[in-house]
Amino acid sequence: MSIVEIIQRKRDGEELSAEEIDELILGDVPDYQLTAWLMAVYFEGMSPRETFALTDAMVRSGDEIHLGDALGRRVVDKHSTGGVGDKATLAVGPVVAACGVPFGKMSGRGLGHTGGTLDKLESIPGFRVELSTDEFVAQVRDVGIAVVGQSANLVPADKKLYSLRDVTATVGNVSLIAASIMSKKIASGADAMVLDVKVGDGAFMKSIEDARELAEAMIALGRHAGRDVVCELTDMEQPLGQAVGNALEVREAVATLRGEGPADLTHLVVESCAHLLELSDLGVDLAEGRRRAEAAIADGSAVAAYERWISAQGGEPDEAALDKAPFVKEIFAPRDGYVRRLGALPVGLAALHLGAGRRAKDDPVDHAVGVVCRRKRGDTVDEGEPLAEIHARTEASADDAAAAVLGAYEIGDEAPPEIPIVLGVMGA
Ligand code: URA
Repeated sequence: MSIVEIIQRKRDGEELSAEEIDELILGDVPDYQLTAWLMAVYFEGMSPRETFALTDAMVRSGDEIHLGDALGRRVVDKHSTGGVGDKATLAVGPVVAACGVPFGKMSGRGLGHTGGTLDKLESIPGFRVELSTDEFVAQVRDVGIAVVGQSANLVPADKKLYSLRDVTATVGNVSLIAASIMSKKIASGADAMVLDVKVGDGAFMKSIEDARELAEAMIALGRHAGRDVVCELTDMEQPLGQAVGNALEVREAVATLRGEGPADLTHLVVESCAHLLELSDLGVDLAEGRRRAEAAIADGSAVAAYERWISAQGGEPDEAALDKAPFVKEIFAPRDGYVRRLGALPVGLAALHLGAGRRAKDDPVDHAVGVVCRRKRGDTVDEGEPLAEIHARTEASADDAAAAVLGAYEIGDEAPPEIPIVLGVMGA
């Protein structure tokens, strides 16, 4: 069947076969036909069978790593659908490794208002995110943890499709997002994974219903590929923790590993680790996983695992080596009251404009800049008390960000309803 006929069938709401999807993904199809098909998928959706076939074809477009086979152990991984201030991976990996479970992860860079783990890691002087596949496997085996950039030939079909979706308004389709995330998770080789599906203002998924639909699709894709998947649906109405910006987030992750982190981040890290330990080959249940994760933070083994990991990838684990922004500007509460709202999106955008993120794919990132939200939703403040700090390269950029972050706060007389950080767990 010709590509035109395949596009026509999708346009008319028909279900494509696995062979037809293979032709689209693995054939030499020009961008204009792929984008026409993507738009047809955007409007007509994909059946579960089509989504399996798409994911499978995407995995086969490049290399696959079999970490578990190489190590003779169950290897675990975690992934977030992207948020503001989400440094959880930097703490989850070392805790899990300290508990004796191999942790191997390929991470991405930030785009737009959401940060990326690789950018955060690159704020650590000397840290190498580019390891060969052999180095990656050897480090997971010998050090217990490695986090690297995606190898060039890992799901090349996703690189192509994602760049087309990004510029043709076809990112926001559940089947396409699920296939994009799960093809990379399956190809990079972990046996079991926790997927953190962010929900709210600062996330892809704005409603809990959409987040559930995405989680269900990813759990089904994992099951189809023989991988165990647990999805946590977590709040992204406000930034996670206090720090937003690369080096600032590394400091907060290390504080969390020492047991001195913000409550929401610490809770999410411990819960994610508990699920990962339950999915591992340790043979522990969730309660024991939680106990071991908390113990690793309390007894210093988690922070020791962090230092081993960063050193193994050439980085300087001492926080004193992290870059600091030359201007730090505080913003103050305009009145007494409760913080009723702290918008994740405006804070993420303020950090982006300070230079912490990139607007276009190849923009440079300023690792030192960002925002520290000292007060979060539900906290009380007195007029004139500090709400947040802006860490900036120039005074002018600090002033702009200060206005934006002040606008992200809503302060009122009544306490807002409590929203837990973990809104739900699926696939357990
Ligand atoms: N993250 C991905 O890797 N792919 C998507 O499509 C959306 C978020």
